[in-house]
Amino acid sequence: MSSLTCPCGEVIRDVAQSDSELLSGTIVRNKDEWEAKSRLSLLLAGLCTAYKAGTHLEWLAANGPAYSEQDLESIIEDMISRQSLDVGIPYRKCPACGNLLIRKRRDSNQYIAYSPRQGDACEDL
Ligand SMILES: [Zn+2]
Repeated sequence: MSSLTCPCGEVIRDVAQSDSELLSGTIVRNKDEWEAKSRLSLLLAGLCTAYKAGTHLEWLAANGPAYSEQDLESIIEDMISRQSLDVGIPYRKCPACGNLLIRKRRDSNQYIAYSPRQGDACEDL
């Protein structure tokens, strides 16, 4: 997403903005969240087991080359981020009118606009 135009006319650019974190998020189904937590638990359990056995470098190499040269905190943070990014539908909130611009599917560039103040009014973008 490089930019979106809200039905109100506001152009929302996908650039770093100071309020970007307040105006964007992810909608996650409970089922997808539970599955991501389960995958993350398995990964962390595997890492802990390998760490206790002194084989964590081999384990890291086998479970992602990006992990091999990072400290443990960064590795765990990366694992959590990867699992979090793997689920959910991103949305952006229009700073001008408050509409939620919701991606139709995770692998799509199409969005719908939802106005929380007007209930179920939706408009394809
Ligand atoms: Zn708007």
